[in-house]
Amino acid sequence: MAILIEHVDVLDPTAPCSTARDRSILIEGNRITQIAPAADLNLQSLTINRQPLYVINGHNLLAIPGLISAHTHSPENYMRGATERMPLEPWLVWLYGTCGEYTARDHYLCAAMSAIEMLLSGVTASLDHLWHGGAWKREYLDAAMEAYRDSGIRATVAPMYDDHDYVLDAADALGYDLRGSVYGLSHGGYRPDRDDYRRGVLRDNLAMFDAWMRDWHRTHDGRLQTFLGPAAGQLVTTECLQWSLELARKHGAGIHMHCVETRVQDYCIRRARGKSVIHWLYDEGLLSPEVTLPHSVWIRSPEDLDRLAERGAIPVHNPAANLKLGSGLMAMREMLDRGITVALGVDGACSSDNQNMFDAIKLAALIHNLKNYDPRTWITAREAFEAATLGGAAALLLGGQLGQLSRGQLADIVLLDTRSALLAPMNDAYGMLVHCETGASVRHVIVNGQIVVRDRRLLTMDVEALVAEFFERADRLPFRQPIDAKTRKDIDDCWAFWRAVMDSVTS
Ligand SMILES: [Zn+2]
Repeated sequence: MAILIEHVDVLDPTAPCSTARDRSILIEGNRITQIAPAADLNLQSLTINRQPLYVINGHNLLAIPGLISAHTHSPENYMRGATERMPLEPWLVWLYGTCGEYTARDHYLCAAMSAIEMLLSGVTASLDHLWHGGAWKREYLDAAMEAYRDSGIRATVAPMYDDHDYVLDAADALGYDLRGSVYGLSHGGYRPDRDDYRRGVLRDNLAMFDAWMRDWHRTHDGRLQTFLGPAAGQLVTTECLQWSLELARKHGAGIHMHCVETRVQDYCIRRARGKSVIHWLYDEGLLSPEVTLPHSVWIRSPEDLDRLAERGAIPVHNPAANLKLGSGLMAMREMLDRGITVALGVDGACSSDNQNMFDAIKLAALIHNLKNYDPRTWITAREAFEAATLGGAAALLLGGQLGQLSRGQLADIVLLDTRSALLAPMNDAYGMLVHCETGASVRHVIVNGQIVVRDRRLLTMDVEALVAEFFERADRLPFRQPIDAKTRKDIDDCWAFWRAVMDSVTS
């Protein structure tokens, strides 16, 4: 079915107030095939004879490209609002020490809850760095894909895995025993102190991911994608990344890997490798445009920023999580000034804690003002918005096809009510979208040429039933119970290690 949006205002950086007024948008299949003044493109002028046409009245609506969250973890949806005043390392021990082992249904529900919140707030695409607190099974991966398939959102899933924990090595050297904690039982379900791991579990996991990618990558009219998600620079060997990149390239997929989110991680990597994470990846030929690097907070030196710019890997900014966990502020201005493409993400719902990209955009546009008093270095509204659209498209390997509204682009469109209290009186559209909007003005959402939200209602899923089941299942999860003595001790041990490292790097 073709869709015609008539008499709609369209976000356009070249127009007065960044808004091209009274336009029509024609969508055929999953693409925008025409955008023109409504007087030139209307029902009478169209000769789409062979397919039915659905007409949306665009009066008092603003069309924007769908927002793209380039980093989240859907399994954290059960733990919304459950933590505060914790930096990443002890937070991780709490998270994996209390989450229990999810079923496939849990993964389905968590991904569905992410998709519901995102679609209703104008997010049309998400990159889910999917974790599981135990050994991977194919059914967990399929469950997340099925939720995204059913929801209608554009989704890319990158399962998390690792093969060597350099944090443990650093803790050992400083006299802290973290091996009994989550740091000793890692993603993929293995013991990091077992040397046979990479010949066994990693190979098995990669073989499973290979088959899963064959079944799901670029399916459902290209709406669903599969990437590989090596967990983080401090949790993988060079060999693991080489194998991962090889497999990703075989499928035309990407690599998604946490990168120096905290100073502790930077410390552990430098201790193990004698150089920064970016220097290591650069030297090993592991930086390229299909590599996305969530956080990238502690990439600071001009040399590392130049390496990143030269090779084209994409940092993903997660300002809400970086503030909540006190991790630091990415060098976003320095990156943009070097021509580095920066994407934006919400991060998991236990560290941000919602999945609202309007929050992420506003934070990205504001928090960097604190770093330099000179306003010429501050992030503009348009730069922040484009990180959430064009930057996200590049992160999904859809650069040139997604992230703006023009002819030939994939039809991921959000229609906002310009008569809402948030957007009236619609001054410059970038300023309004970034500094005023919360997602509450979202009226209709189109993903890949399909209407998935109409008049603020999600058409694809039974939201009420899913929320009821989500409540029910959350009740039996261990994180709702008092923390047991072993997990308490693991968290305390990690706090002690964290303090020792932070004291040494900040003194
Ligand atoms: Zn993350």
